[in-house]
Amino acid sequence: MPEFPRCRLASWEDADRWSARLAERIREVDRVPEVIVGLTRGGWVPARLLADHLGVKRLLPVTAQHWGLTATRSGSAEITEDLHGSIDGATVLLVDDITDTGESLELATQHVAARHPARVESAAFLHIGHSKFVPTYYAEEIPRGSWVWVIFPWNYWEDVRQLVARAYEETRDVDAVRQRLLERCGLDLPREHVARTMPAPVAALASTASAGRDGP
Ligand code: AMP
Repeated sequence: MPEFPRCRLASWEDADRWSARLAERIREVDRVPEVIVGLTRGGWVPARLLADHLGVKRLLPVTAQHWGLTATRSGSAEITEDLHGSIDGATVLLVDDITDTGESLELATQHVAARHPARVESAAFLHIGHSKFVPTYYAEEIPRGSWVWVIFPWNYWEDVRQLVARAYEETRDVDAVRQRLLERCGLDLPREHVARTMPAPVAALASTASAGRDGP
């Protein structure tokens, strides 16, 4: 994956639209589940939104890890926190934010299916066409070949901090960092957000300390 991936900023309005669309589809086919399992961390907020739309009270987490730093894959997906709570004989919907390789959702589906539910289906806000696993429901497809790193509102500061840190290795000027992220990632960030996420400049800390010593 590129160090500076092309990025797409998703808004809370997008998330609201995607969850409403998924809920509508699930209701249309009369498949409202008894339990929603959120694939954390990315699928946790989508799972909560969908539980709200569908009026589902049982919401459980399961954790899969696959991607480490922003747009950087760390080996193959693994379940790092098991599902707790019985789903024996229940209808279950597993929810994630996006299927990219599809490994996380595929693995989580197997993990959940092994706990004897009556049915397991899956849903993702976004589905990338090249994913090897196709969720039962998705709100929007990103065509194969149009890969982007989607910055979801629940991951905004983490993603921005990491991208800013990468640009910071080349320049320590806020405006230059901002310009680089615009050119390389297509990301037009508010100057204040770049400034806020710049790693603490060692030089500035040193000068503060010496200013203290020189003070009245
Ligand atoms: P995957 O197993 O590759 O389908 O993706 C696992 C998780 O990594 C997803 O649920 C997201 O939280 C995150 N992720 C993977 N690809 C992207 C992407 N292109 N944009 C934003 N988040 C991503």
